Amino acid sequence: MSVVGATLPGMTEELWVRVHRGTQEIGGTCIELEAGGARLVLDVGRPLSARAGDAVELPAVRGLASGDDPSLLGVVISHGHLDHYGLLDQVSPDVPVFAGKAAAAVVEAARFFSPGPSLRPTVHLADRVPLRIGPFTVTPYLVDHSAFDAYALQIDACGRRVFYTGDLRGHGRKSVLFERLVAEPPEHVDTLIMEGTHVRASADDVPAQRTESEADVERAIAGTLRATRGLVVVAASAQNVDRLVSCYRAARRAGRTLLVDLYGVAVAQATSRSSIPQPGFPSLGVWVPRRQKLRVLRSGEFRRTAEVRGLRVFDEQIAARPDRYAIYTGSSSIAELAAGALDASGAVIWSMWSGYLSEASGTRLRGLCAAKRIPFVEHHTSGHASVADLRRLCAAIDARAVVPIHTEGAARYGDFFPRAAERRDGDWWAA
Ligand SMILES: [Zn+2]
Ligand SMILES: [Zn+2]
Repeated sequence: MSVVGATLPGMTEELWVRVHRGTQEIGGTCIELEAGGARLVLDVGRPLSARAGDAVELPAVRGLASGDDPSLLGVVISHGHLDHYGLLDQVSPDVPVFAGKAAAAVVEAARFFSPGPSLRPTVHLADRVPLRIGPFTVTPYLVDHSAFDAYALQIDACGRRVFYTGDLRGHGRKSVLFERLVAEPPEHVDTLIMEGTHVRASADDVPAQRTESEADVERAIAGTLRATRGLVVVAASAQNVDRLVSCYRAARRAGRTLLVDLYGVAVAQATSRSSIPQPGFPSLGVWVPRRQKLRVLRSGEFRRTAEVRGLRVFDEQIAARPDRYAIYTGSSSIAELAAGALDASGAVIWSMWSGYLSEASGTRLRGLCAAKRIPFVEHHTSGHASVADLRRLCAAIDARAVVPIHTEGAARYGDFFPRAAERRDGDWWAA
């Protein structure tokens, strides 16, 4: 378990681990593994601190950019959030990529609306189906997270076992997956590399006692829909499929038709799950923001609007009966709606991380709602596990060491979890 610095001590029959980024920050995760002279990378995330357009260098993994080092066997992507795959466009196309099939489809669907790297998986991950990659056996575990088709990854090599949680939670719509992980945990884990988004850096910053579940969010949205006379706009991420489900169910409970934009439609269809609300579902319509109309026009991809023609609800219809509808769309559509049917009789529900509201666009949006006296409420819950749930997971897995990742509170892991072993970015250590 010794920390051996930035150079690898040659080929030994051990499973070596090096976290390139993530031991001291949330996102930008990249982990390199070495066993018997072969290497495997878990996630190549873009740091959340990097602004759009900022160039970010790939982590120093030999052969990752050039693709000319045969000892590098591939990159396994835990899930389709940019802080885990956002540097993939700098990885050589000769390096194989392993990712969930639906995760890759969702990322591909999103690229039309929000350009980013493709997941281009060579091999798909499947829940609890072990995958042999050279000396490594990778067993993905489907987890509950705010990204669709997200996995924790168990890696076996040289008689050692590492379990990397990826991003996960126990309070989403798939909490049963978290409970299954606690009830039937992987056995004999040497090192648990565990996300700790909610492990705060300061002891004074105590997380909320109770984490709201997606079911709570659904109830809260339904409550606001019932209590509001006019149009309700839910500002949320098109890729947060759990939230789309919560919102659709809330709209049904409140007797409103949920209007989804083209981005939401594309993502829902990309999941290939008939249980996810999409065109054809009762009380589900399509509203197309001006920005998306332009995108369709410029790209010439008119099938996107043609396919939903019969389901579209237009601004005049919304203005005539705003009480009938709730709209699930991105925050950038709100100004357009506020120039039309969205007024003081309606409401904006902010259903994303509240931190975005402190950014310039968030401040502008709050200002706009205040000026037009449009009620503004927040109904949201995190994509990441509470400390209480992490403690349950930790106890169930009972690893010989718990290494912090995806956290700003690494130094505090010892306060919450037994056998915490803090590591530094860039150091190699034996699992
Ligand atoms: Zn993340
Ligand atoms: Zn994530």
